[in-house]
Amino acid sequence: MEVEDGLAVVLSEFARTLVTDFPIKGILDHLVRRIVDILPVDAAGVSLITPTTHPRLIAGSDESAIRYEHLQTSLGEGPCLAAYETDRPISMPNLADDTRFPVFVRCALAEGLVAVFTFPLRNDDRCLGALDLYRRSAGALDAPDMATAQTLADVATAYLLNAEARMAKNEFVATVSHELRTPMTSIAGYVELLQDGKGGQLSSGQAAFVDAIGRNSDRLTALANDLLTVSGLEDPDSEHERVDLDLADVIDAARFVLQPLIAESRRTVTFETPADPVIVHGNPADLEAMVVNLMTNALKFTQNDGWVSCELLQVAGTARIEVRDNGLGIPREEQRDLFTRFFRSSTAQEHAIQGTGLGLTIVDSIVQHHGGDISVVSDHLEGSTFTVSLPLAQGSWASDR
Ligand code: ADP
Repeated sequence: MEVEDGLAVVLSEFARTLVTDFPIKGILDHLVRRIVDILPVDAAGVSLITPTTHPRLIAGSDESAIRYEHLQTSLGEGPCLAAYETDRPISMPNLADDTRFPVFVRCALAEGLVAVFTFPLRNDDRCLGALDLYRRSAGALDAPDMATAQTLADVATAYLLNAEARMAKNEFVATVSHELRTPMTSIAGYVELLQDGKGGQLSSGQAAFVDAIGRNSDRLTALANDLLTVSGLEDPDSEHERVDLDLADVIDAARFVLQPLIAESRRTVTFETPADPVIVHGNPADLEAMVVNLMTNALKFTQNDGWVSCELLQVAGTARIEVRDNGLGIPREEQRDLFTRFFRSSTAQEHAIQGTGLGLTIVDSIVQHHGGDISVVSDHLEGSTFTVSLPLAQGSWASDR
């Protein structure tokens, strides 16, 4: 009964992570630790194996599990590789009496290992690796425990296949977007030459056509850039290095990037940061992109002579960035979809304001990755306020006032 309860809990934990972009290694480490909690074993490990039998990735419930996994993969023999190769579970309840895999048995006994049970991570037509359970005392696992272990191995396989599919999709999107940018740069370059009269004087009709090509090539470039950013943010294994940073510096950097846009805009733009630093643990480039996206929207969706502001505050243990404008606003009934991909409000479409509908998806993803949240207060023609709250870096609470 206890094992069944434990299994139910682990299964529901997994069901939830299936739809997140949690890194594969983190998920497998968690799984093997939970297996040790619910089954009568001392350690558990997973090796993902490629057809050359080199492990792609190893996860373990503790140091000893990692050692046992390496033992098998470095020796090139053992129940883990056998389960992978035969697609069947292998049970070795007492290594001392077992005549299979003699080299592995000798080394395992020397490490204090007494029993091993391995389960293939099997899919229809291929095996991804094996789940290995280790015991430092002799004895078989009973049938329900064996079934539980195989169920967990199957769940791990489902997770891995899902993660693989997501990674392949992200890679595809990233490659296509990247490849699109080279011809787009060339098109934009030639458009500029034509506009500058380098190809001869244009009639006013020709100039209008060239301007339309220029606008649309800018749109495509923006779309390619946004798709590239989205795929990078969704890749669970891509590196977004985190440091402790002052959000005021992030806002200054964003302000620098926005300067050309602000200079040509007829809106009043203000930035406000507190005298004391507001320290969060995050990725400076991603946080800068977040502010740039919110401010670009505020500028885009506010009429000439309107105003836009960006304020940084530290309130009750959180950092807060508020981007406000008195522009077109977003109809209340449409706000539910604001952070979904390619969403564009009816107002944006009516006023033919250009955009990809990916900016807020990017912002939302960055906020989530930083453990924060984002909210919006707005209404049709009533302006908008986007508020991002981020946790302060550990140790910087003392300066909170
Ligand atoms: P894009 O701006 O490229 O269309 P976003 O994902 O950044 O894409 O924004 C999605 C939509 O949300 C916009 O098209 C617009 O309808 C609405 N929106 C975002 N920010 C604002 C704002 N400050 N004021 C009014 N509408 C906004």
